[in-house]
Amino acid sequence: MELIFEKSVTGRRGVRLPASDVPRAAALPANLLHSAPVGLPEVAELDLVRHFTNLSRRNFSVDTNFYPLGSCTMKYNVKALENAAGLFAGVHPMLPLLPGGETHAQGALEMLFELGGLLSEITGMDEVTTQPLAGAHGEMTGVMIIAAYHRARGNKKRYVVVPDSSHGTNPASAAMAGYEIITIPSDTSGDMDLELFRQAMTDEVAAVMMTCPNTLGLFNPHIKEICDIAHAHDALCYYDGANLNAIMGKVRPGDVGFDVIHLNLHKTFGTPHGGGGPGSGPVGVKEALIPYLPVPRIVKTSEVDFGIETDRPLSIGRTANFFGNFGVMVKAYAYITMLGRAGLIQVSEQAVLNANYIMARLKGYYDLPFEQTCMHECVFSASRQLKHGVHAIDIAKFLIDRGFHPPTVYFPLNVKEAIMIEPTETESKSTMDAFIDVMIEAAGQAGHNPQALLDAPLTMPVSRLDETKAAREQHVCCVDY
Ligand SMILES: *Cc1c(COP(=O)(O)O)cnc(C)c1O
Repeated sequence: MELIFEKSVTGRRGVRLPASDVPRAAALPANLLHSAPVGLPEVAELDLVRHFTNLSRRNFSVDTNFYPLGSCTMKYNVKALENAAGLFAGVHPMLPLLPGGETHAQGALEMLFELGGLLSEITGMDEVTTQPLAGAHGEMTGVMIIAAYHRARGNKKRYVVVPDSSHGTNPASAAMAGYEIITIPSDTSGDMDLELFRQAMTDEVAAVMMTCPNTLGLFNPHIKEICDIAHAHDALCYYDGANLNAIMGKVRPGDVGFDVIHLNLHKTFGTPHGGGGPGSGPVGVKEALIPYLPVPRIVKTSEVDFGIETDRPLSIGRTANFFGNFGVMVKAYAYITMLGRAGLIQVSEQAVLNANYIMARLKGYYDLPFEQTCMHECVFSASRQLKHGVHAIDIAKFLIDRGFHPPTVYFPLNVKEAIMIEPTETESKSTMDAFIDVMIEAAGQAGHNPQALLDAPLTMPVSRLDETKAAREQHVCCVDY
């Protein structure tokens, strides 16, 4: 694929701008003027359109292929949500204020306020901030709120406890917020070892962070007990709700005893991500933590009016510009109101049913480290295939040739040769069956013709990349093929 610069022909133009009719107010200093052309590619409009269209066709996307990337919830995002976001395209957070200090953007504030209310209702929390820009950003905001709470009460806290099956961002966020991490291993059923947890709990523990369902796709049956033990040590309970699509409408973490939660609107609530759009990781808290939420807060000032409050002395401050990724929130708001209560419950049921269907159909072909009913995703191990020299990565590459985005591999870390499959609720049985057939074919090839897997992919512009180098030096456009 040529670079767009390599298509450049001197003098070729895609658009011709009219001559400037803006009067020059003042002479620009000579040292600020360009003395040579800036070196932009000179191409015709059609060259440009073809270049970017062809580049886009090299992408795997949910709109083109099944994308069962575990933990990432690559569900189909309905296009109607884009229209909803478009309705707000003219609103800018710096619209001038009206004489009384009120804003023109009442509708936007009302939408944010209502979204916070809906998310509080879904999670069982008392108030929500929509500011954080991603799941991990929500985690850090949440842990900073926990730290502010303990500081205000004069609590001496040093540690955050996480199970080894939590999402990797949990310990990272807690460490960035200044805590030391205590990791608790899983027991034989894939849940956090309750006895080891009990032993680790001291009055120096600030919080317990639970990813639930955990990265094995399992729902911990002891979460109520875990919250009770933590609270007995004046520790707070954090719920990583990035994958709420497994339990939405079934369990409210706030009812179980969790004090803080973050959500990923870009996973559970139908907004695109992974190159398709920015994220949003709202954080919900219980009553006692409301004073520490980031500012500005949106408050209802009358029956119909909304205002912006910044004077909250205990607040951790701002964690993002303005109110966060506003467009994403419009889409999530539209998603929630479009589906309604019954629809959201159906989302969870379908997501869990689909994952269990794949688990049941593949368990004769791949090792299943934990056999109980899974939630929104299932985790296999390629250890059986490894006896023939085939690794999880080889199966992933084989799937690419057959038009499927690979599942997540080598995560979670506590499963050897992990293959983590998350079909999401938006896929049909026939799509899942086609995927399952290829997974079964791969398992068969591992025994009879492992080379077929080791050579894959054969249909892509490039075959095997140096994975480490590819991640560190992302010169995608410079690959010469
Ligand atoms: C995706 C995910 C996160 C991180 O979310 P980002 O938006 O990628 O920062 C955290 N926890 C869990 C369980 C996740 O699946």
